[in-house]
Amino acid sequence: MKITAIDTCVLTVPTPKPMALNYPHHKLVIAEIATDEGVKGLGYSLAFNGGGAEAVHTYLETRLKPALLGEDPRLVERLWEKMFRVDMGVRKQGIAGYALSAMDIGLWDIVGKLAKQPLYRLWGAHSDVVSAYGSGGWSSYSLNDLLGEAEKYAAMGCRYYKMKIHHPDPRENAKRVAAVHKVLGGKARMMVDVNQRLDVLGNVRQAELLEEFDLLWYEEPVLADDLDGYAEVAKKINIPIAGGENHFTRWEFKQLFDRKAIAFAMPDVCRACGFSETLRIGKLAAAHGVQLTPHLIHETSIHVVGALANGFLVEFMDWAPPDLWQELPQCKDGQFRIPERPGHGMALARGAIEKYRSR
Ligand SMILES: [Mg+2]
Repeated sequence: MKITAIDTCVLTVPTPKPMALNYPHHKLVIAEIATDEGVKGLGYSLAFNGGGAEAVHTYLETRLKPALLGEDPRLVERLWEKMFRVDMGVRKQGIAGYALSAMDIGLWDIVGKLAKQPLYRLWGAHSDVVSAYGSGGWSSYSLNDLLGEAEKYAAMGCRYYKMKIHHPDPRENAKRVAAVHKVLGGKARMMVDVNQRLDVLGNVRQAELLEEFDLLWYEEPVLADDLDGYAEVAKKINIPIAGGENHFTRWEFKQLFDRKAIAFAMPDVCRACGFSETLRIGKLAAAHGVQLTPHLIHETSIHVVGALANGFLVEFMDWAPPDLWQELPQCKDGQFRIPERPGHGMALARGAIEKYRSR
């Protein structure tokens, strides 16, 4: 069996309000992998706010595509290594990590379709339902937007809601958290996300003001590059730390685990070198008593979480327009039932490429 063609493009997809106040669109880098036996795999990578999508597309098209054409798509582990080592002068982080992810996701889609199994079953299957947390709450939201969003997710049955704490004054962040906490009234537990904006002391001060809200986690406290800073924050605050959406490989996560820097690991399947590496990271996390809660892309991350005993939550950011996907899994009672369609089970809606293609 051989890979005969890989068609790639970039989709620019508008977001709904209130998310559009911060991010008017996201981009998807698409890789459709065709084989000589007719089976096709859909790979893609989400560039949040569009960041880097064109560079991801170029790397995928010029470096990874030539590495895969003519190869047997069933040898995923072998092809992952080939892609990871294709340019020894380009570490597979950032742009190259996103590109490798799209290809790896497409290869696994082919393998699942050949086996006539959804991926979570192929990987061993721990659960066919996965709990979700509602996610959003950016700083540009008015208080009404913020409370409305939290209530929307609670009404969908989500028992967790995560909001951003991006205001430069930690007391303002604490006020907004308090308002959401009050409106949720015990229906949902909360998490907060710093998105790498503070230093160690800034986090200590901020976290002290949030202790009373019994937060599930406190996310990305310092720059993703600053692994020692992560560990220092973890030692100094009384809220468990989550992180990993900007970490790309098992080796980076190992350093976080060794430092006891995070209690929740959040690899992104579209950044952390695909399903293959995210599964490795998830299994490594288990050895450190760390739970896996992948970043975004709930529609495919549900397979990883459903496959692993330490899989915990997926992040549900309800943004995709109804004409993007054929059958986007729906959140019911705060959970996603993993589709039994073979592979990852996702297919673009008819006409979506024509409508949203920007490159
Ligand atoms: Mg985050």
